[in-house]
Amino acid sequence: MHHRIALIVLFLCAALSAASCSRSRTMQKTEPIMGTNVTITVVAPTAAQGEAAIEAGMAELKRFDAMMSLYKDSSEITAVNKAAGKRAVKVSREMIEIVTAANEVSMLSKGAFDITVGPLVVLWQMRLKEGAVPTDKEIARVRPLVNYRNIVIDRKASTLFLKKQGMIMDLGGMKGYLADRVADLMRKRGINNALIAVAGDIWALGRREDGTPWKIGVQHPRDKDTVLAVLDLSDRYVSTSGDYERFVIRESKRYHHIIDPRTGKPSKGVISSTLIGTKGALIDPLTKVPFILGPDQGMQIVNRIGAEAIIVDEDGRVFMSKGIKDMQEQQAQ
Ligand code: ADP
Ligand code: MG
Repeated sequence: MHHRIALIVLFLCAALSAASCSRSRTMQKTEPIMGTNVTITVVAPTAAQGEAAIEAGMAELKRFDAMMSLYKDSSEITAVNKAAGKRAVKVSREMIEIVTAANEVSMLSKGAFDITVGPLVVLWQMRLKEGAVPTDKEIARVRPLVNYRNIVIDRKASTLFLKKQGMIMDLGGMKGYLADRVADLMRKRGINNALIAVAGDIWALGRREDGTPWKIGVQHPRDKDTVLAVLDLSDRYVSTSGDYERFVIRESKRYHHIIDPRTGKPSKGVISSTLIGTKGALIDPLTKVPFILGPDQGMQIVNRIGAEAIIVDEDGRVFMSKGIKDMQEQQAQ
C-alpha cells in the first residue's frame, strides 16, 4: 500500500525566516483521523483562539468518523448496512445530508459515482489482500447490489433504508462533506483564514497571513517532483484523486480504489483528477467521475456545474478547464 498526498501546500509560512514564522499567528496541527492525515492550519487573532479552533475542528472530524466509519461496529453507517433488506434505521441529520449530497452526484454522473459501491470495494479489498483479483463470477454476483436508487431516504423520519440485503454504503468518497462542516465551524468561530486538509482534499478559506491567496501545487501523478500547476486559491475547495494514492500491483497491473459500478472493476484510462469549486460535498465525489466517464464527459460535467478541473490520462495527456489559467500563481513583477 502506497499513500502520497497529491496536493502540496507551498510557502505556508510567508515570512522569510523560521524565527519570524514561529512568532506569527499562523498555527498548524496534524492528526491521524479516518485512516488518513488531517492537517488544520489557521490564521488567528490570538494563539488561544487559534488553538481552540484547531481542536474544535479535529473533534468534529472524530465525531464524524465515529458516525461514518465502516470499521466501527457502533457507527450509524454500520447500523444502516446491517439492516439492509430488513428495516429503516434512524440516523442523524448529518447522515441524511451526506447521503442526499452523494445521490445528487450519482444523478449528475449517471451512476458513475455511487456510494452503494461498498460490496465491490469489499470484494476487491479482500481478493487483493490475498494476492489475487476477484473472478468475473464473483463480480457478477455482487454488482446488482450496487444502485443508489435503492437507498430510501426519509427526511421527515430521519431514517435510511437499503432495499436489498447485502447492500453496503461506503462514504469514503464523501470526505468533502466533512471538510465543509469544519469550514463552517471555523467561520462560526471568527476564523476566516484557514486551510483544512483531509488527505487529497483541501478547503482553502480566505488568505494567508500576509494577505495573499493560499498556494496549492498539484503534483504530477507519476513524478512527484513535477508540479502540473500552482494555484492561487482563496475561498475555494480543491480535491485530488489519483490512482497512485492507493494502489497495489498484481501481475504488473495496477489496481486502485476507484471502482466503475458498470464493470465492477477499478476504472481505467484516467490516472489523476483534480477539481476546484466551492463545496466539498459536491467537488470531492465529482473528482471520481472523470476516472469512470473519461476526461471528455468528466470535463463536460465540471463545466456544467461551474467548477474547474485538471485531468491526466494514462498517456500523460493533461486536460485543463478554462478557468485554471486565471488561478495559476501570479508571478511577482
Ligand atoms: P481517498 O480515500 O484517498 O480520499 P478518494 O477521494 O479517491 O480517495 O476516494 C476513494 C474512495 O471512494 C474509495 O476508497 C471508496 O471508498 C469510494 N469509491 C470508490 N469508487 C467509488 C464510486 N464509483 N462511487 C462512489 N464511491 C466510490
Ligand atoms: Mg479523497
